[in-house]
Amino acid sequence: MSVTDTSPTAAGETSAPLLEISNLAKHFEMRAGALKLTRLVLKAVDDVSFSLQRGETLCLVGESGCGKSTVGKLILRLMEPSAGAIRIDGDDVTHAGGAALRQFRRRVQMIFQDPFASLNPHLNAGTIVGEPLENYNLYNARERREQVAALFARVGLRPEAAAKFPFEFSGGQRQRIGIARALALSPDLIVADEPVSALDVSVQAQVLNLLVDLRDQLGLAYLFISHDLGVVEHIAHRVAVMYLGRIVEIGDKRTIFSRAQHPYTQALIAAAPVADPRVKRDAIVIEGDVPSPLDPPKGCAFHTRCPFAFARCSQETPLLTRRGDGHLAACHLDMP
Ligand code: SF4
Repeated sequence: MSVTDTSPTAAGETSAPLLEISNLAKHFEMRAGALKLTRLVLKAVDDVSFSLQRGETLCLVGESGCGKSTVGKLILRLMEPSAGAIRIDGDDVTHAGGAALRQFRRRVQMIFQDPFASLNPHLNAGTIVGEPLENYNLYNARERREQVAALFARVGLRPEAAAKFPFEFSGGQRQRIGIARALALSPDLIVADEPVSALDVSVQAQVLNLLVDLRDQLGLAYLFISHDLGVVEHIAHRVAVMYLGRIVEIGDKRTIFSRAQHPYTQALIAAAPVADPRVKRDAIVIEGDVPSPLDPPKGCAFHTRCPFAFARCSQETPLLTRRGDGHLAACHLDMP
């Protein structure tokens, strides 16, 4: 069982979390061999625990295939977890169905990676943004139009854009439509899965700044999934690093970027481009590919790539242990 992180708010205080994830797991059973007699278990997410405060941004980072998007889908209840619990304001919604799930979905919305694929090409932008209000039977037709106009203004789109179709917008404008749709039901939490990675670099900063402004104005919490450490440094309050389905380090952004304890985190940060040429980062290089999650290494799952691995690492799985205030890492070493 992993240690549940303590979660200071953006203001540095600790309060009851908006979202609490405890020992969450998603395992897929597979059959291998000519007669499909060999049973394999793929642990896409394993024993993941964290909490999220109102107004806070927790970034989930790691290489592709590390399980970060699966965590997002589990929280959105797009997948059933194999184990663990999801609580919002203390209410257990892990297996909620019917009206309780519908209510939960009002409070937790999503922004997708690909702003084009996520918008119905046959509907105009106004209809797309107003659809959640219609689905939840909120407001009459005139009020809905007013709400949609207000949402367009909030994300920096002109009111006349409501009559246009997705193909008539740029990538950045399409992502603004996706953001407006996510805001329509006034959620408390938005799960954003690589929301700027499909955009031109010049547009990424504009969309990121919009997300930061909306968070600060509306008190939104974000679970922000990204492989881009530059983006994470811009938006995160806290950072959780995943490797082969598990969180290997979690802490506030400043601590993670300046005093990371896990060699994997250190390597990710060392590999990230730095905008300021005066900033030097120690070069920790990891080699090789991520091992197959169907046959993860015994002991520390990172030991096959870790430059600091020693005998114990291949025998014993390191647990998340406290390294400071709200800072946890899963490594047998105690880094300075
Ligand atoms: Fe490296 Fe060992 Fe720490 Fe794993 S436990 S990260 S292999 S030093």
